Amino acid sequence: MQSPANQRAVRRHNLGIVLGHVVRHGPRSRATIAQETGLNKSTVSSLVTELIELGLLAERGTERTGSVGRPGLVVEVAAGGAAGVGLEVNVDYLSVRVVDLAGGVRHRALQAADLRGRPPEETLDRLAAMARSALERLEAEGVRAAGITVALPGLVDAASGTLLLAPNLHWEDVPVATALAERLGDAGPPPTADNEANLAAVAEAREGAGRGLSSFVHVSGEVGIGAGVVIDGAVFRGAHGFGGEFGHMTVDPDGPPCACGSRGCLETRAGLEALLAAAGEPEVDRVPSGEPVTRLASRADAGDAAAVEALRDAGHWLGIALGSAANLLDPQAFVLGGFLAPLAAHLAPAAEEEMRGRVLGAGRRMPDLITSPLGPEAAVRGAAALALARLVDDPGMLAGDARD
Ligand SMILES: [Zn+2]
Repeated sequence: MQSPANQRAVRRHNLGIVLGHVVRHGPRSRATIAQETGLNKSTVSSLVTELIELGLLAERGTERTGSVGRPGLVVEVAAGGAAGVGLEVNVDYLSVRVVDLAGGVRHRALQAADLRGRPPEETLDRLAAMARSALERLEAEGVRAAGITVALPGLVDAASGTLLLAPNLHWEDVPVATALAERLGDAGPPPTADNEANLAAVAEAREGAGRGLSSFVHVSGEVGIGAGVVIDGAVFRGAHGFGGEFGHMTVDPDGPPCACGSRGCLETRAGLEALLAAAGEPEVDRVPSGEPVTRLASRADAGDAAAVEALRDAGHWLGIALGSAANLLDPQAFVLGGFLAPLAAHLAPAAEEEMRGRVLGAGRRMPDLITSPLGPEAAVRGAAALALARLVDDPGMLAGDARD
């Protein structure tokens, strides 16, 4: 005989199973849910009723399965039941993206700004203002904010939501989640924070080039270069959550000094600044908005020698790092995202050539180089997805129970 506390915990767990099943697989009848999840029919019925009361599922017409038997009433996700708020602080922009339970984008905004060396308080004020206006819109639409997750470009202690170190922003020990919570007050749920490359990998796995892959590395070129490592379907973070600092892998031991204090990091050879400088792009508009990247891509498409050469060179350094990563991790693919995506056609040949020479057994298992379809919004998409995922896993949080 289970104790009442135990029964509540089991029921709460099962609420997440049923909601997650409908979120992932689409509208279906209670009987189908029972069949597919292995839960018994009366349990599913009662769980669905609770999820409808919580405003997370809704009834929708009937489903006819086969020719015999009564058609079952189909339940679907209530799009307006809840939404996840994704925020992103990057070196050259701030971004917000709000996604509802049905995957619809409720709100998105991007502010371009050079945030390097700006005081964290000022940047967080701006981010909080963007978050507040998104939350106000949600409230006006009658949609509950399930969670807020901030993507940050550096080492993040995800448990406390603290940005420990972001060399490109020149930030150190900034308690982002707490500072944002203070600014938002009662306007929204307590924010969490995570590394942008990890969140980009989450988005890539759910809705991008990583769908269907169990092990891949998402290499995201922002101003810096980060990686989200997905192994057996889960983001690998390392012992302290600091894994994936791909841009700071040494590719050239005697190379130029890096913002991190080391030298010859991949970022100093294939980072955005290095690349644009090598291609002779004017310094004045190196940030923001991807404009110089688009221009560099068109120059290379047109056969401009300096552009082609700079990209081939960056591809060579990138290939050295990818080759080492392939030897260590044996992923199915590397997904090139951020600014690397629009330049992939010009970077990949040199990178692949380098990898063929460096990956052990390259003839048998070369990882694919794939281009991300998500564009610069991958991290904020992942942030919104993660903010929502907590509710999908544990819809009982809305019922006000503390998690056992
Ligand atoms: Zn470095």
